[in-house]
Amino acid sequence: MSEELLFANALKSSKAFNLIKNDFSLGLGNAYLIISQDDEAVQSFFRLIACAVECDQHNSACLECDSCLQVLHYNYPDVKFFNQEKTPIKAEVMRAYLEESRKAPVIIKENRTPHVLIFIERLDLTSERVMNFLLKSLEEPPEGVSFFLGTANENGVLETIKSRCRKVYLDIFSDDVILEELKSLNVPDETAEIAVACADGQLGKARKIALSEDYNESYKLVVNLLTKMQKSTDIVFMSNIFDRYNKKSESNMEILNIMSIMLRDVMIYKNNPSELRDGPIKEDIKKVAASFSASAAEHAIMAVNDAKRKLYSPGCNPQAIADSLLFSILEAKHLWR
Ligand SMILES: [Zn+2]
Repeated sequence: MSEELLFANALKSSKAFNLIKNDFSLGLGNAYLIISQDDEAVQSFFRLIACAVECDQHNSACLECDSCLQVLHYNYPDVKFFNQEKTPIKAEVMRAYLEESRKAPVIIKENRTPHVLIFIERLDLTSERVMNFLLKSLEEPPEGVSFFLGTANENGVLETIKSRCRKVYLDIFSDDVILEELKSLNVPDETAEIAVACADGQLGKARKIALSEDYNESYKLVVNLLTKMQKSTDIVFMSNIFDRYNKKSESNMEILNIMSIMLRDVMIYKNNPSELRDGPIKEDIKKVAASFSASAAEHAIMAVNDAKRKLYSPGCNPQAIADSLLFSILEAKHLWR
């Protein structure tokens, strides 16, 4: 990863960051649990916190001073970023992390308590047995050490660890904030709009969508399908939704996810059109909503969820799943007119 800090503006003004920033004057806690499904944003968030703690400009995370740059280059001695590959942590690897946490701080600065920062991403992927090694360190924390633990899922972390951490939920970001971040990454307008609409308030997800070559096409395919499919004879011509990807289940799932999001937005639009942001996406939703009632959209979402479940099962037949899904959507359209 580059020295640049992704989503710096959005993260700096996030509630989560400001919560932790409050602790700088009070003294950092021993352990924080950062909860978010957005892996990429958490990685950036961790780097931002480290910059803020070590920044030469009074915790401002200026991203320009020597200390900030050292953090961003991953060579600030007292700051350790672990499990950036986001995999289950093996026992010996966890032991090595904890060994690092017991080393005395190297950098001594005037008017500042020496500090070691340990960041561990996606702890929830790790087995309970290995998590227990970490628990011991949290029970008797080495002096001057703060642990920042990332998890996509609160339930994936041992209760005993959670009870020793301050819980911080990373924000769900507004469409406008995400749009700004995508623009600063030079994402073209139309792509950015689609990414924002499908990102569920997650910066990393939005960026991934914006960078995906297929996503735009998948999105258009779904709009076309939901708008134009009116009668059962249409199914024959439209049920090739999974064909473009050689049945790669991840990409097929992407199509179903886009479908869920569009149908959810149709329900929102039917209840209160002003809740959706004006722009090209709202125009698409309007087109789809012309042939769906709110109840029809709701039942169609259930059909999509059902298709997702089937797609996950081993040895499934994507074509049969697509046929049955389109049939169920049509049925919902007619039954809940
Ligand atoms: Zn700085």
